[in-house]
Amino acid sequence: MRIVMLGAPGAGKGTQAKKIAEKYGIPHISTGDIFRANIKEGTALGRKAKEYMDQGLLVPDELTCDLVVDRISQPDAENGYVLDGFPRTIPQAEALTKALSARNEKIDYAIDVTVPDDNIIKRMSGRRACLKCGATYHLVYNPPKKEGICDTCGAELVLRDDDKPETVQKRLNVYHAQTQPLIDYYTKQGVLFSVDGTQDIDKVFADIIAKLG
Ligand code: ADP
Ligand code: AMP
Repeated sequence: MRIVMLGAPGAGKGTQAKKIAEKYGIPHISTGDIFRANIKEGTALGRKAKEYMDQGLLVPDELTCDLVVDRISQPDAENGYVLDGFPRTIPQAEALTKALSARNEKIDYAIDVTVPDDNIIKRMSGRRACLKCGATYHLVYNPPKKEGICDTCGAELVLRDDDKPETVQKRLNVYHAQTQPLIDYYTKQGVLFSVDGTQDIDKVFADIIAKLG
């Protein structure tokens, strides 16, 4: 099962992608996590990506597309994957469609997690992230068992640099301009469905698995 998660930053894509990956035994591939891991390790890619991420802008397609095509070609992705945060532009979606069709494959589902902008701004200030394993928490809606510590790997949780309110508004503007058109793109491919992302985390997940089967 090949799945793409769509939705604004903070809509809950990562939260749901992790649950889908666990239930169906497929890898969760988050471009944001890959960039953050590169920033942490101080790689050349990480240094370039950080310039854009800190400003709330998208990392250029030429740094992003090959990375994903390479990742989905790994053996663990043979039976499918959940792509979270990719594609984010029409050229990225076209690059993905092209790479897949070269292997007679296609995206089976594009899941649009819908949450209004004002709701997102409130949510993001409470997000806490583990930069070691990519787990995501929320101070109120999804708190870790021990304050400030990741349940999964024990690392310290942080407020991401790009989750500061002024950057969140900018990321939302970028989302509406560059990523929202993908809803039409995948509707035309006949694979899109929407879920109401304002519901609690387990209800959003129940709605998703009702569609995935
Ligand atoms: P995205 O991957 O779309 O940027 P996340 O999955 O990281 O979003 O979720 C953003 C924040 O909102 C996190 O702090 C997460 O714990 C919280 N969150 C996710 N889904 C819900 C939900 N349905 N209700 C309330 N908070 C949520
Ligand atoms: P995320 O963790 O998905 O919220 O992504 C964090 C940031 O990483 C984004 O605001 C972008 O700057 C960058 N990023 C992640 N995925 C992509 C992508 N597919 N294309 C361009 N930039 C991306």
